[in-house]
Amino acid sequence: MNFSVRKKPQRTRIGVLSIENQDIQTPCCLLYSRGGAIPHLTMDVLDSIGNLPSILHLSLETMIDQPGIETINKSSHNGIKPFLGLQGFITYLSIQDPGQEIREGYNEEKSVSVWTPGGRKKVDVNQFKAVLESFKPDMAECLCDTIPASGQTEKRIHKSVDRTLKFLDQCIEEKAKSKSLISCNLVGVIEGSSSETQRIRSAKETSKRPVAGFVLEGFSSSVCNWCALLKKTLEFLPDDKPRLIHGVGSPEEVVLAVECGVDIFDSCYPCQVAERGCALDIKWSRKRFKPELTYSPSTSERIEGEQKSSHEKELDGGETMYEINLNHVRYSSDFTPLVSGCTCYCCTNHTRAYVHHLLVTKEMLSKVLLMIHNLHEYCQFFTGIHLSIKEDNFEEFKRNFTESHHL
Ligand SMILES: [Zn+2]
Repeated sequence: MNFSVRKKPQRTRIGVLSIENQDIQTPCCLLYSRGGAIPHLTMDVLDSIGNLPSILHLSLETMIDQPGIETINKSSHNGIKPFLGLQGFITYLSIQDPGQEIREGYNEEKSVSVWTPGGRKKVDVNQFKAVLESFKPDMAECLCDTIPASGQTEKRIHKSVDRTLKFLDQCIEEKAKSKSLISCNLVGVIEGSSSETQRIRSAKETSKRPVAGFVLEGFSSSVCNWCALLKKTLEFLPDDKPRLIHGVGSPEEVVLAVECGVDIFDSCYPCQVAERGCALDIKWSRKRFKPELTYSPSTSERIEGEQKSSHEKELDGGETMYEINLNHVRYSSDFTPLVSGCTCYCCTNHTRAYVHHLLVTKEMLSKVLLMIHNLHEYCQFFTGIHLSIKEDNFEEFKRNFTESHHL
């Protein structure tokens, strides 16, 4: 695995992650999965969506029970990638499902707790090694003691950093002993919750270890100084390794984190939006980064919402500024595409009224169509970010994005 930073105006950067003969342009997002499946989408549907992320995001939490180590080992397949039939993807294994809240108080000195459909499961270094040897992911987040971004004592944060470094050293040691893990790239975890001192310590210490990249855990925009803390933390990481982040996924957060120098994001956000019956409308300006004007019956409601001060303004009908809540009755006779100008299968073939009808009648197809659109919209947004940096237009991109949402 190799990572090269191609362009770096101030902190914002584009890069190329080369792994398994594939070049992945960053900034980018991972393809979120649960139990190895993309929520609501079959393989056939997935194949029909263009511009998908090249890195499949698996999580230990959703996979350790099912399919589990035994099933993979008993199968004729060499690792999780051929088992899932996803040979075209790079695989990245994280510990937790980023779509779930971080639960505090369950990690111990020698084990990390994950929550499976069967309940709590403790995973120690030996079990983690067994998972890696069975699944054979291309990249793997090391075991870590992740704690929530706020409400932690300095003592607990210190312990979280210490435990995570200890897990990292043990994982590195076990990897060195295992022939089957030669090609697995371990990603070190930066902890430190809301403490700048501990974030810096975590970044400095992790950078000394032979890791292939870094994942920033425990950041949340609910903490007021999260962006300044992120910026400070990244100052202590080397430029030549990729930086991933979990739990930071709304369009506004993504733009800010990219500006700080983050390369790779998870993509559970578009899935969560689809699961609440909403269509993503990011308005990052498709044509040369200029805001796109789309007719929408909810325009007046949106203007009303502009007066509100919250960043994730809730509009009437339960919409946020990036979402169109198609559950609302106002869309029952709206025969326009979900987002005007969107070229996804859903927007070119169906209307808001149709998806509203599917939601009201609780048809599974509603989530399928929303996922197709939301994933497409989110990936296009990342392509827009990448191109804007490449063409020295990120400032303009950010300004147009900010003005479009009255941030
Ligand atoms: Zn669409």
